[in-house]
Amino acid sequence: MLYQLAVNFCILFTFSVISYWPFQDRGRFRIPYPRLHPALIGLLGGVTGVFLLAASVRLDGGVVVDARVPVIVISGIFGGPAAPIISALIIGSVRIAYAGFAGPGLIAGLNAFLTGLTAAGFFAWKGSSFRNARLFFHFAVLETAIVLVALLPPGSDQFLNTAMFLAYSYLSYFTVVTILRELNSHFRKLAGIEKLSRTDFLTGLNNSRAFGEILETALQNGHRPVSLILFDIDRFKKVNDTYGHPAGDEVLAELARRTRRAVLPGSAVISRNGGEEFSVLLPGIDGEEAADAADRLRLAMAGNPFIVTGGQSIPITISLGVCSFPGQAADSKQLYSRADGALYAAKQSGRNCTVVWPPRQGPILKT
Ligand code: GH3
Ligand code: MG
Ligand code: MG
Repeated sequence: MLYQLAVNFCILFTFSVISYWPFQDRGRFRIPYPRLHPALIGLLGGVTGVFLLAASVRLDGGVVVDARVPVIVISGIFGGPAAPIISALIIGSVRIAYAGFAGPGLIAGLNAFLTGLTAAGFFAWKGSSFRNARLFFHFAVLETAIVLVALLPPGSDQFLNTAMFLAYSYLSYFTVVTILRELNSHFRKLAGIEKLSRTDFLTGLNNSRAFGEILETALQNGHRPVSLILFDIDRFKKVNDTYGHPAGDEVLAELARRTRRAVLPGSAVISRNGGEEFSVLLPGIDGEEAADAADRLRLAMAGNPFIVTGGQSIPITISLGVCSFPGQAADSKQLYSRADGALYAAKQSGRNCTVVWPPRQGPILKT
């Protein structure tokens, strides 16, 4: 009996990891058709239930004990309300067919349907989470224990066997769920750290590391054209010297907010590339549209002074450089260095202006 229970536990554990890992760790695994995931998890749960049945503990009167209740509940945690219905339908049908549509097998099969249906209702009502699943698990396992007492023939250690069922169900479920919760918390922390490593702390924008990766990906994904706007605050050192470094930090944060709010074409990616240097990457946008967007940004900064905590009103202007791939640059390095060259030319032209590569065209001044 112990051997069967151990095999049952191993099957349950394998199911739990397989239905958890690829579906939850989305950073690493990308299973297509997310809408079908609940059905897939439900199916996995159903197949697992059939394996569990094959490795079940057989008691008197054709009654069998296995980890089907934990499987149905776990499929609900990861797959939402639809998953336990599918799992239970498979498990119940196979159990009934296996028993020949009669006796305890029929009742056990119908009970599996009931568990699946109530699980679906419960998860739809309360939401799929470890905490809610624990509540439902108590109900499902106690209800099944009552059915078990009723099915076991009198004088067949009814209560001892039911106690064994209860002990096994609780032990297997809580062992698996504890491990999964631990995994879950590690994944969340990891995702948080990964996000932090790509985010600029002060402004919440992409940092230069993320910018580099996004730029490479945009070019590799075959976006044509890709435009890049690089911009830099004019005489920012003076802002720090006059109003203090904390006020300078507030200006940087406000500049990031204004950039986010600005009307930028396509799926613009905004980054802080360094101290007071920022960029807007525009996949699918040509140089002309990018130059227009750049000048809107320039006006968004120069149009209204920045108000800092001390109440001071600080006039801020930026200079911008624009370059486009593949028209004006052959690769990502050239795209960046030429946008930077255009930015340099904008500074040379007196600041508060936009220059498109090649700089001989001179700055665009649209005010
Ligand atoms: P230019 O118009 O030529 O760009 O002049 P600038 O003064 O803006 O350029 P410079 O490169 O001489 O100075 C940049 C300043 O940006 C110096 C540095 O103290 C400031 N800076 C860089 N990062 C931060 C930051 O995170 N917070 C604050 N407050 N200041 C920063
Ligand atoms: Mg500057
Ligand atoms: Mg600078």
